[in-house]
Amino acid sequence: MSNEFRKTNMKSATEGYDLMGQHSPLWVADPGVHYVRILPAVGNMAINDRPSFYSPFSLHWGIGNTVIPCRRRMGLSSQCPVCAYASKLPEKEAKPLWPSWSAYMNILLMNSSDEPERGNDGQLQFKVWRVGRENLGKIIAAVELVSDTADDLLDITDLDQGWTLRVKRTGKTMEDTKWDIGCIKSGQSSITEYLEEEGVPPLPDLSTFVPFLEPEEIVALLTNNADPFATAPAPARNVRALAAPRADEDDEDDDEDEEEEKPVRSSGQERLKALMEKARTKKGKD
Ligand SMILES: [Zn+2]
Repeated sequence: MSNEFRKTNMKSATEGYDLMGQHSPLWVADPGVHYVRILPAVGNMAINDRPSFYSPFSLHWGIGNTVIPCRRRMGLSSQCPVCAYASKLPEKEAKPLWPSWSAYMNILLMNSSDEPERGNDGQLQFKVWRVGRENLGKIIAAVELVSDTADDLLDITDLDQGWTLRVKRTGKTMEDTKWDIGCIKSGQSSITEYLEEEGVPPLPDLSTFVPFLEPEEIVALLTNNADPFATAPAPARNVRALAAPRADEDDEDDDEDEEEEKPVRSSGQERLKALMEKARTKKGKD
């Protein structure tokens, strides 16, 4: 085999480096105060067919190296291999295996002056934020607090008249971490100018953010005798109908008292889509 050296394209090399940063979009908040602007729904992000700024997933943790969406709690089937497995274990061992809800949302990191935070490269910081059910409740409560009435909730994700959240984390470990989440006091603000001038990269459609595994793949992970990477995970289904929990759920920890969630309007969805389109066509022309 002969070596055929080709000239390095340094532009591609730097682009590749930039891409590596983009491929870990999950935001992990260090202890301290942060400012977060939740962005409108992208793609098929919806709950009960209405646009939703977050995508909910009921997830099993601690099995293999991955998180496993619970097919049963997400209404895809009446059986879930992990739930079935856990139900046969003593309570103490089963507890960490029960599924819990997470909400994934696209965010833009902001600063204390309610302007976008910049990365080392000077770019806007688009991230994906995962919150548990409790913190989603705090976000909904913050929306209710700045809204006049519960029937007419403000869209805090509005690009022109939305609200930035102040997110304070205290503690470092899972046991001692506390979250304080509320809308910033300085009021509504617009981020349109920044997005229009600097462009919006293609943001992920979070309705398919966590891939679903086929039941056989989950069983293989549970029995520890298969390479989880042997077969690619099936593409995620689009989960739309995540209604209130089914009445027959009696073995869960935290969802018994679920209340009807009020839909939060997402008027900026089309605008955000247009801005992403614009950035894409602009990039194509460059
Ligand atoms: Zn399950």
